[in-house]
Amino acid sequence: MSSTIASAELLTRAKAIHENIRAWRRTIHRYPELTFTEQRTASLVNATLVDLGIETETEVAKTGVVGHIRGGDGPVVGLRADMDALPILEINGTEFDSTRPGIMHACGHDAHTAMLLGAATLLKKLADEGRLPGSVRLLFQPSEEAQDDEGKSGGMRMVEEGALQGLDAVFGLHVDSHHDVGYVATRPGPMMAAADKFELVITGSGGHAARPQSTIDPIALSAHVINAVHQVVSRRLDPTEHGVITIATIHGGTVDNVIPDTVTMTGTIRSFTPEARDVLHSELRRAVSIVEPLGGRAALTIFPGYPPTVNDPTATAHMMATLRDLLGEDHVAEGEMLMGAEDFSYMAQAAPGCFLRLGVHNPAWPEYYPVHRADFRLDEDALPIGAAALALTALRWMENKR
Ligand SMILES: [Zn+2]
Ligand SMILES: [Zn+2]
Repeated sequence: MSSTIASAELLTRAKAIHENIRAWRRTIHRYPELTFTEQRTASLVNATLVDLGIETETEVAKTGVVGHIRGGDGPVVGLRADMDALPILEINGTEFDSTRPGIMHACGHDAHTAMLLGAATLLKKLADEGRLPGSVRLLFQPSEEAQDDEGKSGGMRMVEEGALQGLDAVFGLHVDSHHDVGYVATRPGPMMAAADKFELVITGSGGHAARPQSTIDPIALSAHVINAVHQVVSRRLDPTEHGVITIATIHGGTVDNVIPDTVTMTGTIRSFTPEARDVLHSELRRAVSIVEPLGGRAALTIFPGYPPTVNDPTATAHMMATLRDLLGEDHVAEGEMLMGAEDFSYMAQAAPGCFLRLGVHNPAWPEYYPVHRADFRLDEDALPIGAAALALTALRWMENKR
């Protein structure tokens, strides 16, 4: 095996393919595709990998693509990008705006896909030079933003279909508008929350609003439920854990002189550990049952969402050390825990993983333009940095294990 490549040289190589990465990103941005319909994006990915001489598998997890870069007989490292867009009407007015009204890459997954293609270019070249001591599995997953009718997201399906089997580690990144270009952040342990939804139907028995004594008023019962639910986090969850339960909608009644039969509420449950998640679920069930001694009934349905994204301490220490070398000591921060959710969480359960937040904010901009907004934007100077970050993290992992 030949000698390794210096970080600075890898970054120079990444900057040399900046135009390609930007072109991929802009093409994908023009033709955004929603959850599990990413056929056009998947064929761009597949064609690009095949052109690079990389072996591929298509239709993984419905519309995903897996690429295999084979180097030495060292460990296999997974690198992940998500490919789906959001149902948002873009208002940016750039020459590469979405051509599909109502669909937009407003979460930066176009950039994730393009950066992973960039990393693939860099890693394939290293493999051809005899400088890749292991193998890389490129995981281009569909549908990070949503689950299908069976409650499954793209990352979950990739894991179920065995795409992560045998991986020594897995790494991924997400654009972050709250960090400037050239800066990255991550943290060991829980990084992003588990996000579950719930629906609650409180049933009493309705009647004339002036004769409450002959009804079981579900609106009055709702007042008890709201109080009890709001005490779950403060009184039932270990104070050293993090969690939130929010009742986000409440609907009941039609007119001022009628007590309705039912009230319906929906909301979200967020947590960072399986223990806290279990407590929040079971205590929520208990809290809503407060209506029973009062003559009402509570039907609670919890729809499980993504588990918490938990970074492996070893993989995280490795990625942070690698990126300090690549970007400079003070450009790599220990990030905070975020209450949002990510389906990279399934991959980080399948192999030791680390998820990185990549700064994409241009310091000259007047504000942040964060993800999930119709005016979301990113500074494309971040693209070669993200590609180099992924490639170098995989390469150094193999070298350290050799
Ligand atoms: Zn998103
Ligand atoms: Zn996203």
